[in-house]
Amino acid sequence: MDEMTASKQKILIVDDEPQNIKILGEALKLFYQLFIAVNGKTAIDLAQSKKPDLILLDIMMPGMNGYEVLHELKTDDRTSNIPVIFITARNTEEDEARGLETGAVDYIVKPFSIPIVKARVKTHLELKRHRDTLEYYAMYDGLTGVFSRRRFDELLLSEWNRCIRNRLPISLIMIDIDHFKLYNDNYGHPAGDICLKRVAEQLNSVLKRSSDFLARYGGEEFVSLLAGSNLTDAKTMGRLMLDSVHDLNIPHEYSPVSDRITISMGISVMNPKQDIPASKIVKTADEMLYESKAAGRNRFQVSKSSD
Ligand code: GH3
Ligand code: MG
Ligand code: MG
Repeated sequence: MDEMTASKQKILIVDDEPQNIKILGEALKLFYQLFIAVNGKTAIDLAQSKKPDLILLDIMMPGMNGYEVLHELKTDDRTSNIPVIFITARNTEEDEARGLETGAVDYIVKPFSIPIVKARVKTHLELKRHRDTLEYYAMYDGLTGVFSRRRFDELLLSEWNRCIRNRLPISLIMIDIDHFKLYNDNYGHPAGDICLKRVAEQLNSVLKRSSDFLARYGGEEFVSLLAGSNLTDAKTMGRLMLDSVHDLNIPHEYSPVSDRITISMGISVMNPKQDIPASKIVKTADEMLYESKAAGRNRFQVSKSSD
């Protein structure tokens, strides 16, 4: 795939009439990456696998009709956010109202005017791009690229509940850079930013399972949630994190505890239960972090008291 294609937004065209596909295809192929489906079933499969930015959907098709396709798309998390425009020969006011009420963002009646289709497609794709950008910044931390605090809060709740259902333990590691104020004061804030980025990337790189994740909890604090990890796993991870930041070897000649940037951690391992709030594991890890700091920094402390 060339660079041009990679950056193009994706449109899925769904129509059982080859002639309609041809006309729409000709009008849009220069500007967008196109996928074609001639029936509802294929449309849903492609929507799930290709994640288009927009779907142009015919209503009257043999087998599944457009309303049914839209309903399926809207009830599946993987496709519910994809905007859909109906392009149809059904031209009564009721048809249009029903189409929009079902959740389509727009409704275009056949025979359509190419410039109008192009203009509407452009508008909806611009809106989609803005939405994607907003979603990205809600989900990821702007400086370090790891998950945001907001996303962490969501993931903690869903993982906590998943671990209750599956009777799995859950481990949480609170991580705080040691004497980072002294680092900033002496090397400057921009250098501090670079340091934060490098530490975040390094911590992220030691995570192993697809359910392990790292978020920026605040300033120079990070949090790692390890669903399904027991005490042994969590200690191994704590050790790995400690060593990996040490290995980064970022000089910090003003640190009283080392010649380089180090971290302190608090680890909490719990068997989540319905009557324990998820915030408990954060609170306990925080207390352990405080103990690590008090005990001299550049280390971790583990709690498993809430088992
Ligand atoms: P301790 O070992 O007890 O954690 O000491 P500390 O100096 O790391 O802790 P303290 O909370 O006193 O200072 C944290 C510093 O982190 C203060 C602030 O300037 C810095 N900081 C927080 N967020 C950012 C950021 O986004 N960029 C930079 N460069 N610095 C940040
Ligand atoms: Mg600190
Ligand atoms: Mg701090």
